[in-house]
Amino acid sequence: MKKRFPTFGHLVIILLYFIIFTFPFSKLKEIVPKSFSAWLMLLSFVIPMYLTIWSTRKTFGKKGKLNYKPNYWTLLPLIILVSYAFFIIGEFTIFLLPEPTGIWKKIFDMLNETMAQVFNNQIAGFLMVAIAAPILEESLFRGIILKALLKKYNPYVAILISAIVFGVFHMNPWQFLYATVLGLFLGYMYWKTKSLFYPIFIHFLLNSTMFFAAQMNDIKETEGLVENLTGNDLIQYLILVLLAVMIVVFAWIFFEKYFAQVPKELVLATQNPHKIEEIKQILPKNYQLKSLKDLGFEGKLKETGKTLEANALQKVRQIAVPYDVDAIADDTGLEVKSLNGAPGVYSARYAGENASYEDNVQKLLIDMKGVENREAQFRTVVAYSKGNKEHIVSGIVKGHITTEPRGAGGFGYDSVFIPEGYTQTFAEMGESEKNKISHRAIALQKLKKKFD
Ligand code: IMP
Repeated sequence: MKKRFPTFGHLVIILLYFIIFTFPFSKLKEIVPKSFSAWLMLLSFVIPMYLTIWSTRKTFGKKGKLNYKPNYWTLLPLIILVSYAFFIIGEFTIFLLPEPTGIWKKIFDMLNETMAQVFNNQIAGFLMVAIAAPILEESLFRGIILKALLKKYNPYVAILISAIVFGVFHMNPWQFLYATVLGLFLGYMYWKTKSLFYPIFIHFLLNSTMFFAAQMNDIKETEGLVENLTGNDLIQYLILVLLAVMIVVFAWIFFEKYFAQVPKELVLATQNPHKIEEIKQILPKNYQLKSLKDLGFEGKLKETGKTLEANALQKVRQIAVPYDVDAIADDTGLEVKSLNGAPGVYSARYAGENASYEDNVQKLLIDMKGVENREAQFRTVVAYSKGNKEHIVSGIVKGHITTEPRGAGGFGYDSVFIPEGYTQTFAEMGESEKNKISHRAIALQKLKKKFD
């Protein structure tokens, strides 16, 4: 089986894309007059970065829509505070690095010289640092890479990997450290909000601050805090870093509490309206049920599996994967002992494609005419896709098939099924009583434990 995106190899390919697309620009630099160099720098970032995103999506089939919508305005002041706290912590990690010497000194000087070129031209510099970098980098590292990692791994592992990849992409030890530390916050906010608006905003905020600080102080990107601090200055600086760490810890506790209260959306991947009410009853209060229609899904869900389990999984994946949502789907079958488990997975189409409930009931009664053993069971399988995990549960109600339909309620085979210990068919019972003991209710009760 093909390994799911992104593997280590996929990430290396993405980095290579960027290096290859950047290469022609490094050649251009030698022939373009100095006065244009800032604009060339802007182009030599925007074009390769855009091509890298485009190629990544093409090569690895990542066509999902990128979400840039803001949705938590009230959090912005805290986000701003935490952004600057991360800025201080990020810079502190650079401060811990030894003074560059030898080849590292050369790379360090080259980096500073490049940054000075960008910062020298106010318009081109601002466009590159504060606008293009946040939008393009967040689209790639959070919108494509982290989004896919969150589907594969535990969220904190996914965020850590994406932060390291973001750091490596900067291709030098100073920015690696800073970008990795900041990447943790950018990733966390993307995970919690599912929107690129916040990482882009944070990235914009910090990069533009750095840009204006550089304009005012004539300092260079990586130089700021590498100078040797001593005595009181050092103590003051360490207190500032400690304060920043405390802000991050408190904000984390607050964000965890805040997002735990935000209603979680759960899509019901079914085209049968009968099921919505039953599922609503077992959902915890912090969940909000959405239909396929709410999601804008107009097509018909494919159900081509040979078992109830395969169908439930097939249905849930058609929604959870492309729409990047948590979803549940169920598949139910009536299993009649004397018919060797038929109609089973074919219950909806027992009397043929597009058969009505009545057609199916009639066929069942004809097939069972004169049959003495009328034992049967309804079996429901529910598949629940939640983040990077899939759960599958099932519920069974045993009973028997009547010789003729009875009752006007319910749907499907309800009018010919009497559950064990009862004298009425499901159709005679009334919805609320059926829903208490039904196969779907049993499966959903088991599923209840999987919600948080
Ligand atoms: P589904 O694939 O889960 O929609 O179920 C397949 C078929 O099983 C439906 O078309 C119904 O005929 C039947 N069915 C499912 N659930 C029930 C139920 O609760 N009572 C009676 N028939 C059901």
